[in-house]
Order: sequence, then C-alpha cells, then structure tokens
Amino acid sequence: KRRIAVMTSGGDSPGMNGAIRAVIRMAIEVGCESYAVLEGYEGLVQGGDLIKRMDWEDVRGWQSEGGTLIGTARCLAFYERAGRLKGAKNMILNGIDALIICGGDGSLTGADKFRTEWPSLIGELVKTGELTQEQIDPFKQLNIVGLVGSIDNDMSGTDATIGCFSALANICEMIDKVEATAASHSRAFVVEVMGRHCGWLALMAGVATGADFVFIPEKPRSENWRDEMCKVIARHREIGKRKTIVIVAEGAHDMQGNKISSEMLRELLADKKGLALDTRITVLGHVQRGGTACAYDRYLATLQGVEAVRAVLDATPDTPTPFIAINENKITRKPLVQAVLDTQAVAKAIENQDFERAMSLRDTEFSD
Ligand code: ADP
Repeated sequence: KRRIAVMTSGGDSPGMNGAIRAVIRMAIEVGCESYAVLEGYEGLVQGGDLIKRMDWEDVRGWQSEGGTLIGTARCLAFYERAGRLKGAKNMILNGIDALIICGGDGSLTGADKFRTEWPSLIGELVKTGELTQEQIDPFKQLNIVGLVGSIDNDMSGTDATIGCFSALANICEMIDKVEATAASHSRAFVVEVMGRHCGWLALMAGVATGADFVFIPEKPRSENWRDEMCKVIARHREIGKRKTIVIVAEGAHDMQGNKISSEMLRELLADKKGLALDTRITVLGHVQRGGTACAYDRYLATLQGVEAVRAVLDATPDTPTPFIAINENKITRKPLVQAVLDTQAVAKAIENQDFERAMSLRDTEFSD
C-alpha cells in the first residue's frame, strides 16, 4: 500500500487540524496508508516516534480543535542539506514517498527544495552506504503537495489561506468588545492587528467593523496622513459618532518607510491641540490566531485536504510541485514555486518601499 504523510510547519493557524483530518481520511479512502510527521520538519529530520501511522479514528473530532494537534516547529536543521538528507532517509525507512505540507511560504519553499534535491539526496544516501540501491529503488520520485496555513492570507495565487477567516472573525469580535467601551466613554481605540507584509486582516476588519481609519503595509497613506486621519475622524465625530476605531497592521509604514506605530497614533488622537480624544491602545497579539476554526476555514481545510490527496495520486515527475488554492470559490491546483516567488516579491517590495509594485503584486484590489 502506498504511504502518504501529512505535516504542519511554521506558524500554526486555525483549520490546520481540519486539513490533517481530511488528508488522513481521504488517503485511507483511496486505499493508501496515512502517516503524520510530528513537530514539522523536526519530525522528518529526527524520524523515530515523530513519524506516526494514523488511522481513521485518530483524527475524530479534530475539526473543532484549534492550532495543530500534530505539532509544528521552526527547524534550523532543514535549512541545511545534512538535515534534508536525514529527512530523506527517514521517509524511505518509513516507506513514505508523498508528503502533504500545511504551512506558510517558508515551509512550502523548503518542501519544494526537498523535492528538487530528492534524486541527489537519495543518490548520496546510497553512495555513503546509509541505504542500499534496493531500498531506494521504489522511491525514485518524491511527491510534495502544499496546503497554505496562514492567518495573514499572504500567499499569492489563492483567494484565502486556511485560518485567515478565523483570525478575521476573532479580530471583529475583539473590536466589537472594545467598541462597547469606546461608545460608552466616547473614547478612541487604536487596535493593532497582525500583518507584517500583508494588510488583508487589517483591511477586511476595517470593512467588517466600520472602522474610522485603517493602516496597511502595502498602501501607505499620503505624505500628510496625519491631517487626513484627523479630518476624517473629526467629521465622524461631528455627525455624532461616539466611538473611534483606528486599525493598524503591525507592518504599517508611511511613504518614507517609517513605521506607523500604535503609540504614534494614540498621541496624535489624544493631542490636546487637535482631536483631544481619550485614546487607548489594544494590541490583539496571539488571540487573533487562537481558538477553533470558523465554519469557513473548516470547509476550506476539508475540501483542500481532499484535493491534496488527489494531487498526490495524479502527480508525475514532470508536474511542477503544486499547492492547493481557492479561486473564485473553486478549489484549484497551482504551481507552488511561482506563488512563493510572488509572495516573497511583495514582502521585498514593501521592504524596499516600492509600494506601487507591492500593490500591483497583490491579488486583492485596493482603492481609496
Ligand atoms: P512559514 O512556513 O510560516 O513561512 P518559516 O519561514 O519559519 O514559517 O518556515 C518554517 C520552517 O520551514 C523552517 O523552520 C524550516 O525548517 C523550513 N524552511 C523554511 N524556509 C526554508 C528553506 N528556504 N529551505 C529549507 N527549509 C526551509
């Protein structure tokens, strides 16, 4: 029987457990054996108990569990060829030739590198006498399929990543809570949300909560963003709004690339010579990625997990490593490398303050 393994790597996100469950059950459904690699790439490098056979019942109820129940980790060893060599050996020793990885762009980059290097890795294992030719013969090809688990929705080529809608729902819930206080005391709140290179969470939370002003990394405000924000908020106050909510992504910058921090915004809103609002800061932090997955993420994780197994079965040596996306509500397969390159190009463009390029590379349309 063919053996398919599933792994979670990088930052955790709600819905990862749903993806694991779907992969494990679908693999069994199509007549394969299911494995889980525990603790991300660390499990692949160390092998032993960290590579575990999984049955149908092992993932019962996993849809409604937060985080990832098979563990995730950052693994320095996997950046090095020596670590990947150990990983290849452990895969072969366990009879596994297909790996479905749920993680961010880093994890998926590592996965593609592993697949590209595979022939030379197994060749080296034979040359150094760690494995015999007979042992490697059935494992000439490594199949890798990516699933994107990220709360930031920062992967190019897909409309949504597993976890982003749960994080968005968490943010909205938290903003609703601070709004109650804001309205009661006629206060302003600066709410800081995650997103170093991607403003999707901040922007969508702004739309969903009717926030007064939003700052995102991809689109710095004009040179005089201070006046612009104060004018908008003054107008909202004039027409009777008792609460002010400003959402700032952690990676927000001005046109010169200077960070726009929550504290800067608080000082500006509280300035006695200006709006003079009683202003508080709420940094949402890890509560955003916490808790169980929302219904949409469970559905997305399940459909994509099933599709990932299908993609493993369809793989040929010539197909570029795929990842499973969703585009206009259809589950799709896309080339992994291009999506990762595009994702990394956005981050680079933001770092270089080339905001126009960053915007042009984003799938989402932004406008004033
Ligand atoms: P994310 O997947 O959330 O982007 P990281 O970038 O931290 O998170 O990647 C998670 C892990 O994936 C790393 O700790 C490392 O083991 C592996 N990895 C990331 N990038 C590479 C790479 N270029 N080559 C090999 N392994 C990598």
